[in-house]
Amino acid sequence: MKVLKFGGTSVGTAESLKNVKKIVEAQAKSEQLIVVVSALGGITDKLIQTARTASTGNLEYIVSYAEIVSRHLQIIKDTVAEPLQNQVRVEINPLLEELGNIFRGISLIKDLSQRTLDVVVSYGERLSSRIISKVITDAVFFESTRFIITEQKHGSHKLLQSVTNDRIAEIIGGSRFSVAVIPGFISSDLNGDITNLGRGGSDFTAAIVASALNASGLEIWTDVNGFLTADPRIIPSASVIERLSFAEAMELCNYGAKVIYAPTIYPVFHKNIPTYVKNTHNPEAEGTRIADAVSPAGDVVIKGISSINEVALISILGQVASSDLNFNARVYEGLGKTGVSPLLVSCEYGERRAYVAVKSGDAERAVDGLTDQFINELRGGTLSAITINDIYSAVALVGDNMRGKAGLAGKLAVELEKAGLQPIASTQGNSENKIVYIVERSRSKECLTLFHSACFQ
Ligand code: ADP
Ligand code: ASP
Ligand code: MG
Repeated sequence: MKVLKFGGTSVGTAESLKNVKKIVEAQAKSEQLIVVVSALGGITDKLIQTARTASTGNLEYIVSYAEIVSRHLQIIKDTVAEPLQNQVRVEINPLLEELGNIFRGISLIKDLSQRTLDVVVSYGERLSSRIISKVITDAVFFESTRFIITEQKHGSHKLLQSVTNDRIAEIIGGSRFSVAVIPGFISSDLNGDITNLGRGGSDFTAAIVASALNASGLEIWTDVNGFLTADPRIIPSASVIERLSFAEAMELCNYGAKVIYAPTIYPVFHKNIPTYVKNTHNPEAEGTRIADAVSPAGDVVIKGISSINEVALISILGQVASSDLNFNARVYEGLGKTGVSPLLVSCEYGERRAYVAVKSGDAERAVDGLTDQFINELRGGTLSAITINDIYSAVALVGDNMRGKAGLAGKLAVELEKAGLQPIASTQGNSENKIVYIVERSRSKECLTLFHSACFQ
């Protein structure tokens, strides 16, 4: 059994939905399939924007809602076989009506809580999955809010893994089908309230299901020919990476490669499920194969480069930052309690300063965690301050065969210096498969371009 995930970019138009149908029906001849789908391209953003408009009392939301309705009705006309069209409309009309009522409610009370927004965005996948289950011949629909279960932690929804695995085994594992279609991204909590796995989360849904059912493979179908050496929107000459280890893919995604939502890699890595990135608009292209814990020694040293634009640098200033040998471990412990993963932790021993880089949105929470962790030192004066400077980006070069090449970070830093691009911090831990540079946000594109041409051209 295999899991295939089609993103918004693959299910946005009638044309691409016809490709999805072809790809799935061809593979279904030889194997049982689970197809995970996102909302029609652009719909999640539109749902959020419509809810926000409604919450200001602006009646423009009515026009926007009407566009959402007509987009879905049109795609049914263009892609579902005529005899089934009525049946799909009967299924989705009540959902569309509910959605309209929710928008009206938001507009009347002029309030939009996170919980309401979670309900609003869920309609994207709830609608698309029902439609697509009728586009694909003989597909069976499963509602993923019945088995993808989350809990609230550090202000966001986190997967409750064992409950989820049990429910997937029971609900999907216990059913007979040739092709199942399930909505990605959406989930529910133990009270039955609708939640989600975060923006881009359909990839994660697919990996969770693949892992719970020990699938033979996971295919992420999107709108590019594979995992590329860099973000093609920044580096148009980026080329397809033939193969990546799970570890490499995980780092590239953690440092911003949007092609796969970062939490996706762990469940497939854990179960050693080969994962492919393929192009729905060009199915013949080989794509990228992600497998193995580590890449073979013969592979190139740097596989890819990724970047996160909005990064804040937290400085921890004072004597302890340069003298406490446990300092790094304590930084990780302080951050761990807040659920923030740092992008870089670096101690400047001569400078009495340590740097912690985090995504901008995590900065306040990280400082709270670090302040709690070092409260005695801050009170006693061995640490003088913890400050935030939110003007940076992170650029990461990734490759398993960087291990043991300790001089590489320095050599690349020299290249940067020649171009007048001095990173404020960088790190390559001993056994690490990545080098991370923190550079000024205004110059991150230049930095990425320089590294990309140095490594791949
Ligand atoms: P989907 O709707 O299929 O989930 P996404 O927009 O989430 O698609 O992800 C695909 C996009 O990710 C590509 O169109 C590309 O612009 C972007 N992207 C960023 N970094 C990379 C990369 N390293 N390799 C491939 N695509 C990337
Ligand atoms: N539709 C959701 C989003 O736009 C989930 C996904 O596409 O993976 O974020
Ligand atoms: Mg995506």
